Order: sequence, then structure tokens, then C-alpha cells
Amino acid sequence: MADNFCFNHSDAPAVARCAVCGKAVCSKCVVSKNGGNYCSEACAARAESSAGRVDTALGDKKKIDAKLRLRAIIIVVLVIAAAAAGIFYYRNNKDDVDRAIRKAGKQVSKQADGAKKSIQKGIPTSSSYKRDKENLVK
Ligand SMILES: [Zn+2]
Ligand SMILES: [Zn+2]
Repeated sequence: MADNFCFNHSDAPAVARCAVCGKAVCSKCVVSKNGGNYCSEACAARAESSAGRVDTALGDKKKIDAKLRLRAIIIVVLVIAAAAAGIFYYRNNKDDVDRAIRKAGKQVSKQADGAKKSIQKGIPTSSSYKRDKENLVK
């Protein structure tokens, strides 16, 4: 298997696998750094910089958590306010809202009926219509 030989030297047996890109490397090519084996200085440097990023990410995580919590509280407050406003509006305009809901419901069911009819009539304008038709037949 090619995996058992160095990525750079096809006749040299591999002794390690790069921790970053996964290339197999021989004892001449392997770059050992901070307990990790890499195929090149570039990969070793990349591993180091990403490890540094993890450290700063952990430091930032607490700040982000606090921010997310604040945002969640704001969203909850907004949802409650919107619900309260909706209830208030509904109470004051009950008839209007009911009429609008009935009208919207009628329109939606009319559209659904039309779509169903055209599918049943067998006007497969696209493959998705065909699939819908098959689902209806089932
Ligand atoms: Zn590598
Ligand atoms: Zn090599």
C-alpha cells in the first residue's frame, strides 16, 4: 500500500502520519514538534497556530456565553412583549382578526384544492409534480 511509504519518497517506509494533513512520512521527512508528528514545517506551524486559536477561543467562550445569555433574555422579553401586544390587538379587533383568519384559511384551502386537482389531472410540469402525484396515489 502507498500509505506504508513516505509521501515524498515512494521507496522509504513511513514512520509517522502528519497530524494535520494525514500524509505518511519517512524518518527523514517527519517533523516532530510538541509531541506531534507532521509532514512539514508548514503543517507543524499550522497545528501550533490552531492550538493557539483554541486557547483564545476558550478565553472568549465565557464572554460569548454571557452575551448569548443576554441575547436569550432579550429575545424572551421581546417574544412576551409581542405576544402581549398580539393579545391586546386581538382583544380590540377580534372581529377583524377572525375575519382575516377565515379569509386566509379559505384562500389556502382553495389553493391546495387547485394544486391537488391539477396534479390528479396529470399535468406533470416538473419531476417534483410527478413525485407529488405518486405520493397522492399511494
Ligand atoms: Zn502535513
Ligand atoms: Zn521521506
